[in-house]
Amino acid sequence: LDTRRHAVVTGANKGIGLEICRQLASKGVTVVLTSRDEKSGLKAVCKLKEEGSAAPSGEVVFHQLDVTDSASIDSLVEFVSTRFEKLDILVNNAGISGTIIDFQALTSAVERVGGWPTDEAEWKTMATQNYKLAVDSAETNYFGSKRVTEALLPLLQQSSSARIVNVSSELGLLQNIPGESIKDALGEIENLTGNQIEEILKKFLEDFQQGQLVAKGWPETISAYKLSKAALNAYTRLLAKEFPTFLVNSVFPGFVKTDITGNNGLLCAPEGAEGPVHLALLPETGPSGLCFFGKEVGSF
Ligand code: NDP
Repeated sequence: LDTRRHAVVTGANKGIGLEICRQLASKGVTVVLTSRDEKSGLKAVCKLKEEGSAAPSGEVVFHQLDVTDSASIDSLVEFVSTRFEKLDILVNNAGISGTIIDFQALTSAVERVGGWPTDEAEWKTMATQNYKLAVDSAETNYFGSKRVTEALLPLLQQSSSARIVNVSSELGLLQNIPGESIKDALGEIENLTGNQIEEILKKFLEDFQQGQLVAKGWPETISAYKLSKAALNAYTRLLAKEFPTFLVNSVFPGFVKTDITGNNGLLCAPEGAEGPVHLALLPETGPSGLCFFGKEVGSF
């Protein structure tokens, strides 16, 4: 009987994902480090293996995974199923900002305010969205995480201690979602369905494509990133309800120096990985359906 725990981490060739793999492996978990780009994923696995005495005690193996590509997801499922027959931990970490950010301006703003800039007017001067990036962001952050999760559910059901960790963002907190109707819809968890979450995102993208966001009543400060992370949080709560034997949680890693932030941040990547790893290794009695700021529980 194989008593080892097995984990899949998405978007793990760099940043927080790579550190999640490193920390899980150091706890004896067998980790499938996945990345959409085979070369950088294999390089990351080699890097972990080359770390000598700090080498992970659990095995780290590579498999390609683009969360927006269903053939790639199928191939990962086949791999995990053949090799391990079950999955204990899924960390949906892959994500993109869907925004073109002027990182030089962001660095100045971060230095000035000593953290994440919250002035929306300033953000308008630092970041631009376009329809294609908005689609990519929704496809990666929400639809990708959902497709990967659904495809791996049968293998998670083979585990006696399944954990799903959705790496989300504070920007997706309901209090940061402008627009009462979206907030109400995504917050109404008792009656919310997966279809309704998808409808909200699809409507946003449709109105975006037609240049009708403002005309259709979307608040000016909405973005595909915020909405996709809010949708991911709602999905966390739906999954926790649907699978009461799993522990499913969302986590906000903090403001972390990685490529997505142009290497601005208050934390380094290993610190950003601590919250997700904590949730991936929750004991049997751990919470489910919650959101965490690092290791601390918060509210959606
Ligand atoms: P990085 O940009 O360093 O890492 C993002 C990872 O996601 C990369 O490995 C990237 O791969 C991967 N990725 C993007 N698209 C896909 C895809 N279609 N399929 C598979 N992998 C994909 O940023 P972080 O490490 O900071 O981000 C990790 C998560 O943390 C994200 O979900 C992000 O939203 C979240 N987060 C980060 C914060 C921060 O301050 N850094 C704050 C709040 C949340 P590739 O190298 O090929 O692009």
